[in-house]
Amino acid sequence: MQRIDHVLPWSHLGSERKVSVFRFGEGERKAYIQASLHADELPGMRTAWELKKRLGALEARGLLNGVIELVPVANPLGLGQLLQGNFQGRFEAGSGKNFNRDFVELSAPVAAALGDKLGDDPHANVRLIRQAMADHLAALPEASSQLQGMQRVLLSHACTADVVLDLHCDAEAALHMYALPQHWPQWRSLSAHLNVKVGLLAEDSGGSSFDEACSLPWLRLSRQFPDAQIPLACLATTIELGGQADTGRAQAEAYAEGILAFLAEQGLITGEWPNPAFEPCEGMPFEGTELLFAPHPGVVSFSRKPGEWVEAGDEIFQVIDPLSDRVSTVCAGTSGVLFAIERLRYAQPGFWLAKVAGREALRHGRLLND
Ligand SMILES: [Zn+2]
Repeated sequence: MQRIDHVLPWSHLGSERKVSVFRFGEGERKAYIQASLHADELPGMRTAWELKKRLGALEARGLLNGVIELVPVANPLGLGQLLQGNFQGRFEAGSGKNFNRDFVELSAPVAAALGDKLGDDPHANVRLIRQAMADHLAALPEASSQLQGMQRVLLSHACTADVVLDLHCDAEAALHMYALPQHWPQWRSLSAHLNVKVGLLAEDSGGSSFDEACSLPWLRLSRQFPDAQIPLACLATTIELGGQADTGRAQAEAYAEGILAFLAEQGLITGEWPNPAFEPCEGMPFEGTELLFAPHPGVVSFSRKPGEWVEAGDEIFQVIDPLSDRVSTVCAGTSGVLFAIERLRYAQPGFWLAKVAGREALRHGRLLND
């Protein structure tokens, strides 16, 4: 194992922050796994430690067939953002920016750099494109903030990988994952290893999140150069490993084992690995996800649990105003998987309280809520 420490720019005077990458194995193929880009989403960090121990043992036994890079603490900035005992890990405090938005878009600079060099050899194209991506990131002007510097470090390791897993979690949730629709057939096995309850599929959710910054340039380039053989060579996903409180040891061990079994199927690890313990879940259009809001302030009582299938018209929660005695019942508007609910039981204006993944497209344009 090699530990690569990247010192981030723009630390406050007298302090220093680093992003540490743990690199296992060697070879042409590569998987990249990072955890807790939203710093208060810790199930991924807990899982990453299980992965770290196991990857070290696999490497020592010579069972790795490629490189696996692991970043267990993707966001040291956010980890420092505690306010009176509460994490503020989703948005950078100084700028208000979401840590998982606005990663560098790589298809346009790669197209400009390569243009007529892309031909009918897919392997040659993959090598050229990865090199051009790395070159572009390395040649950017100095980062103008610590957030930007951190994002570039993460993307520079991930954009040359065949498989990218970005481990997040939701508030209270069943496991779910985001990916390109074109990649869903390849992800079904991972969903079965991890007991994921729904795949949310979109070509472009808007916002240039980390997984799409890795996977989407290949789709864009393949469309921009239809005569060249450009595979969708970066299989990237955001996996929401349940809810924020789901840091249990048994869960983390099971997630690590499932991820390693999937990487073995992808050819990155040899040896005997168990078949998936669950059925693959359904992939649904991310445009079909309904966000449910409260109609007024009040205390929230949920009627259903994350992971359950709900029908359109089913009660999902009630909002109660004990001063006016106003009680509102909020129902699902679509049939689908109730995959996440809010942790806070107080209704605020503009904040979602439940999310249901349905099969029919309901929303268009920017799909990510912040
Ligand atoms: Zn997240």
